[in-house]
Amino acid sequence: MHTYLKSLLEQRQQANLYRTRLTHDSPQTPNLVIDGQTYLSFCSNDYLGLANHPALLQQGKYGVGSGASHLVTGHTQAHHALEKELAAYTKRESALLFSTGYMANLGVITTLVKRHDAIFLDKLNHASLVDGALLSRAQIHRYPHNDMQALAHLLANSKAQHKLIITDGIFSMDGDIADLANIVQLAKTYQAWVMVDDAHGLGVIGKTGRGSLEMYDLGEDDVPVLMGTLGKAFGVFGAFVAGSQLLIEALIQSARSYIYTTALPPVLAEAVRTSLIVAEKETWRRQHLHELIAYFRTAAAKRQIPLMESFTPIQPIILGETEKALAVNRALYERGIIVTAIRPPTVPQGTARLRITLSALHQQAQIDRLVESLVEVL
Ligand SMILES: *Cc1c(COP(=O)(O)O)cnc(C)c1O
Repeated sequence: MHTYLKSLLEQRQQANLYRTRLTHDSPQTPNLVIDGQTYLSFCSNDYLGLANHPALLQQGKYGVGSGASHLVTGHTQAHHALEKELAAYTKRESALLFSTGYMANLGVITTLVKRHDAIFLDKLNHASLVDGALLSRAQIHRYPHNDMQALAHLLANSKAQHKLIITDGIFSMDGDIADLANIVQLAKTYQAWVMVDDAHGLGVIGKTGRGSLEMYDLGEDDVPVLMGTLGKAFGVFGAFVAGSQLLIEALIQSARSYIYTTALPPVLAEAVRTSLIVAEKETWRRQHLHELIAYFRTAAAKRQIPLMESFTPIQPIILGETEKALAVNRALYERGIIVTAIRPPTVPQGTARLRITLSALHQQAQIDRLVESLVEVL
């Protein structure tokens, strides 16, 4: 076994794809302490800066662990209340908590489609959606990123009984938005169902932060299955699916990644409840975040830094070769700045990139420092 594993790791190393973990000693804020040194970080998904909000740290009455799965004795009033609040937040009948977004995606997809059905996935969809699709054993069709003609063609040629179109709302490595208006239209034409994973949209975009569906003014009739995560803009951990009462009931009965796992710690359910309130009340967080995005884009464009079509906190800079992305990442690190280098297979070959993410806790002066350092190292 070890000979085999060693050869696997050597291959990774030779291709410059070996991953290492950065170990820091501080809460998730733009300032990370590593070996006693403070670094300016542009890497987290804590878009609203809620991960270390003092109101979320209050110790709850349920203790830490849930001690059982939801269907045994792991489901507390805190979970229940949070589900109701998430349903209200997304303007849907019902919502169901999952331990992680990864598990939510596996659970929903395998409940909705089976061997003789078909799934239509954007080429840039998150890995958990691809894994859920594989696990369902349905036929998988992947269309080029946001290519509606290709999607229409695939739908027109499918004879499957049930067709499920699945897309990220905001694409996690590119920061752009799905063409939801057309996806919903095609779904109507070809009688397909639509599922949106809005891990990076919820809390961040749309007039009131309700995500990509709000942006397109789409409701439950258009997109019956909405998945959201609680570890990104909401700063905590966990995920949920929101939709009709029927959908949620079916998930409770059949989603294996819901049934056969320990319930989310109630202390986290309580923290998310607070987080939803704070995100609503402290509107300056979203406002400041969007000001920072515009500020960064203007400053970067002025210095000829190549940007992508993204109005979200995800601002990638494509560098192409893996070696280049790593070299730039290291040079920034030497200047006290952390920006993750994203390499294949997370992104397609030849599109290795820096993935800059912005948070409401960043300040303009920190963006200036990032841009100046980028100019130097690029
Ligand atoms: C982060 C992410 C997930 C996984 O959510 P976790 O709660 O971290 O497991 C799923 N889909 C997308 C698009 C994501 O960005």
